[in-house]
Amino acid sequence: MSSQGIANSRPQKSRWRQWRSEPPFRWSPLALKADTVRSLPIVIPVVLLGLAGIAAAIASVVATPPSWPEVAGVTGLLAAATAAEAFPLPIEGVNVGAGTTSLAIVSIVATAVIYGWEAAALVAFLTMAIVEAGRRRPPTRIVFNTGVYVCAAILAGLAASPFDGSDLGAIIAASCLGAAAFYVVDILFLSAVIARTRRLDWPALLLRYLYSTTLPFLVMTSLIITLVVLWNRSPWISIIVVGPLITVALHERWLHRALERLREFDRLKDEFIAVISHELRTPLTSVYGAALTLQKREVDDEMRGALLDIVSDEAGRLARLLDRALSASRLDANREIFEIESLDGGETARSIVDAARHRLPPGIQLELVVEPDVPHVLADPDKLRQILVNLTENAIKYSPDGGRVEVRVASAAPQVRFTVKDEGIGIAPEQQEHIFERFHRLDPNMTRGVGGLGLGLYISHELVKHMGGTIWVTSSEGAGSTFTFVLPAADAAT
Ligand code: ADP
Repeated sequence: MSSQGIANSRPQKSRWRQWRSEPPFRWSPLALKADTVRSLPIVIPVVLLGLAGIAAAIASVVATPPSWPEVAGVTGLLAAATAAEAFPLPIEGVNVGAGTTSLAIVSIVATAVIYGWEAAALVAFLTMAIVEAGRRRPPTRIVFNTGVYVCAAILAGLAASPFDGSDLGAIIAASCLGAAAFYVVDILFLSAVIARTRRLDWPALLLRYLYSTTLPFLVMTSLIITLVVLWNRSPWISIIVVGPLITVALHERWLHRALERLREFDRLKDEFIAVISHELRTPLTSVYGAALTLQKREVDDEMRGALLDIVSDEAGRLARLLDRALSASRLDANREIFEIESLDGGETARSIVDAARHRLPPGIQLELVVEPDVPHVLADPDKLRQILVNLTENAIKYSPDGGRVEVRVASAAPQVRFTVKDEGIGIAPEQQEHIFERFHRLDPNMTRGVGGLGLGLYISHELVKHMGGTIWVTSSEGAGSTFTFVLPAADAAT
């Protein structure tokens, strides 16, 4: 059922992680991995059977050459099978191999019913070989998957052959038997090889595969019957099934992507709960410790002042954390109110930089550059402050070894441009597009000791967007980051 077979039998990872952890495949006879070696008792017989099958099919075609219309018909079905194999469908709940299902079985079994096992074997062979070679799969996988398809196609042709007629009953019987034969061979071989490679219990795995693929198999059988009935009238008429099939395929892919996003979001939410608990615990512990000391011990005025400073600083931190969480939830629900006015962006930036200078960690130089003739900006003053505070705090927070942080305000007619540039840890290229997403933190385990909710940039992005601007980042790992956003200039709007 799953066309991907062992080609994709590993659990799926996000694309960039896969790219990082898997170097491009290079074939070497010495480089047989342990799981490949374990799979050989299944792979070798399947490949030998497939080879014998394809040799027999070629011999039979040479002995009785097909007519031109037959060649044209088989070529059409081959093209359909190859396209279906190249674009497998992710079907929810089907958890075989790569978790995707190829509709190529429809064309291959239809070929078996209409033109016989020889044609089906050739179509199966070419479909799998072309697609798998195109995907640059390891050779063992190409030959195994091709062998499975050839064996399944031949058995489908043989199962369908007793019902050689054009009446509806014969077509239904041939299609059902052909589909069942293909399905059984495919699922048996596939589960056998995966069970061996991953050291799983074969009967249990087979049962799981059968359970999750029975419904798609029945749908495909009905598609095969439809295709053969139409083909029997005229091969041209059967083209009408292509439209609905493509629509279903596109819809299915769209649905799958949406579900994947929801799952990812769910995972991020769990991570968020862990992070927020950690983030709340740190200031709470400090406040609690300071309060206990004040309560239990005689302290001098200086000590009392220092402890009260801790209480007010940490309480402020708690309030900011909660503000952020609430602000994100208001933005999500579209409940944030914007009061846009014309204001001096340079002055706003100056007040934020001045405030930040009071709490600057050692080694950081914070500078403000307001270029001459910057027009007023159209923005909500509180929201503009919030964005600048987020970006400046991040620039400082993610510069653990110190360095220069520059906040710059410039004209970029018809907009005003704000830039916050640091020389900190930087952001890897594949992460740059994700950091504006909700709860996205590059270091959720806080291995660098820098905490945060992963909401600051999301909030900044949403605020800028709602005020008619755009925000983006340029960065290189280890060299620092530059966050830039533009907002409409007041002059341009008047
Ligand atoms: P957080 O509260 O975790 O800082 P943000 O939404 O502000 O959340 O940032 C999301 C992630 O983007 C951070 O966890 C951090 O990994 C990365 N990031 C943000 N700003 C910078 C920066 N100036 N330099 C390096 N990484 C940054």
